[in-house]
Amino acid sequence: MVDVKERPKARNNSPNDAAPDIRKIGVIGAGQMGNGIAHVCALAGFNVLLNDIAVERISEGLATISGNLARQVSRQRITDEDREATLKRIVPAHTLAELGDCDLVIEAATEKEEVKRKIFTAVCATLKPEAIVGTSTSSISITRLASASDRPERFIGIHFMNPVPLMELVEVIRGIATGDGTFEATKQFVGKLGKQIAVSEDFPAFIVNRILLPMVNEAIYTLYEGVGNVEAIDTAMRLGAHHPMGPLELADFIGLDTCLSVMQVLHEGLADSKYRPCPLLVKYVEAGWLGRKTQRGFYDYRGEKPVPTR
Ligand code: NAD
Repeated sequence: MVDVKERPKARNNSPNDAAPDIRKIGVIGAGQMGNGIAHVCALAGFNVLLNDIAVERISEGLATISGNLARQVSRQRITDEDREATLKRIVPAHTLAELGDCDLVIEAATEKEEVKRKIFTAVCATLKPEAIVGTSTSSISITRLASASDRPERFIGIHFMNPVPLMELVEVIRGIATGDGTFEATKQFVGKLGKQIAVSEDFPAFIVNRILLPMVNEAIYTLYEGVGNVEAIDTAMRLGAHHPMGPLELADFIGLDTCLSVMQVLHEGLADSKYRPCPLLVKYVEAGWLGRKTQRGFYDYRGEKPVPTR
């Protein structure tokens, strides 16, 4: 009998998978994740090009970065010179063609597979062959997304956590074809950002969201079934389980569209009814109540204090 543990491991070490020297980063999508990723990359000394399909999102992203850096200065985490130098390293890119000389691009656009696939096909046409393509998808198969690129061996999941400047972890996920050189270069890059790595296999929603999002979805079911109202559910989990944020507050923070997409990927990908997205989550998303980013979700953020919407 063959001991499975002793079988030699297949390696993806193709000869043209030498790790590139990562200096210039392209970030695609300037929303809450994209601007956070640009922030930490530039603060770590990388030159960054920040792209978004909506031009105003780039300027909003830069304003957010500037505000967040100023907060880090006021908390004495960085100096004013660091703030200025960091801002100078981030340049807006209005087209994907401008990312042509990046060594690594990180896609952080909307969590929709067809949106991401189109981006990979388009950006790969402009990139140099040795450039690495990373995605910050919360849930979608890296192997499947890689197939929309021209370089599955140089394609990898780099899943940052929100808010990026504060959270210590980055999940790194290899697709089936991801080369060893790309994996090593990505781990080194994440280390230079001062983040810790958890390596996850390429299964729906990886590790953190596989565990976290069903809990958030269950909290929404608890609300839907009338077990408790928004305030009771969040208070219960903050004080009763010592979570820093209640699950509904957290859902608003993540974005309800992203929460729904992750649950759909889990439901479809694992074909288990326990991942069925709560109908109330679907309703909020259909209403355009996506949480903090649209000022309304399980809380209404338009006033001075967040007010529960149920
Ligand atoms: P967001 O809605 O804040 O931002 C998405 C941005 O992508 C928007 O600015 C949008 O204009 C832009 N965009 C859409 N199509 C584009 C295109 N074709 N080209 C360029 N830009 C495009 O969303 P987010 O929360 O920043 O999430 C972005 C990604 O990061 C998603 O894949 C999400 O799953 C993942 N993620 C989110 C979180 C979270 O807590 N929100 C955490 C980790 C990872």
